[in-house]
Amino acid sequence: MKVLIATNNAHKADEIRNALSLPGWEFLTLAEAGVESDPAEDADSFLGNARIKAQAAQAASGMAVLADDSGLEVFALDGAPGVYSSRYAGEDGNDAANNAKLLRELDGVSEEDRGARFVCTLIFLDANGREVVAEGEVPGKIAFSESGDEGFGYDPLFLPDEYGGSITFAEVPQDEKSAISHRGRALQALRHKLEGVC
Ligand code: IMP
Repeated sequence: MKVLIATNNAHKADEIRNALSLPGWEFLTLAEAGVESDPAEDADSFLGNARIKAQAAQAASGMAVLADDSGLEVFALDGAPGVYSSRYAGEDGNDAANNAKLLRELDGVSEEDRGARFVCTLIFLDANGREVVAEGEVPGKIAFSESGDEGFGYDPLFLPDEYGGSITFAEVPQDEKSAISHRGRALQALRHKLEGVC
């Protein structure tokens, strides 16, 4: 079965292919399938935005589709940046500005109150529109300054609990990060669900 991944992010596509290596399944990005789909992600939840991406890609292609949405929730900021993670400082995808804004917003907040989590929601739509949803999260804390140069986004500020708060996601090798990350965990959960229905 050919499955369209509702992204053109090659890194995400590789992670999905590695995690969901189901016999007979082939995953294509939007570009690889020659499909154009770029809907406004204006829902107020990760699930809502993943569904918008999945349904738009399916409407444009008629194929089975996999879509995801993810972001960072900081408890002292009532869950911000949340669904606005990629455009927290205004400009979409400006990681440096987003990290600088996060540090400003947490100015004066003590270490024990800097708890946060990354969240990822995945939606698989089969060719008939039947939906399978899976979620993953990874708990941690927001550091007082950036460290490391692996990864992307908020990785240089995120201290995953898994490593006892000693290193940021940007200091964890990519293959280790995939095993414990919110996206990795959501993909493992989705794989179990798909094995049950396929
Ligand atoms: P999207 O799911 O690709 O739309 O991701 C939304 C935003 O959340 C990204 O632009 C990043 O700012 C942030 N984000 C999601 N996953 C990660 C991650 O694994 N590390 C760092 N930032 C992330």
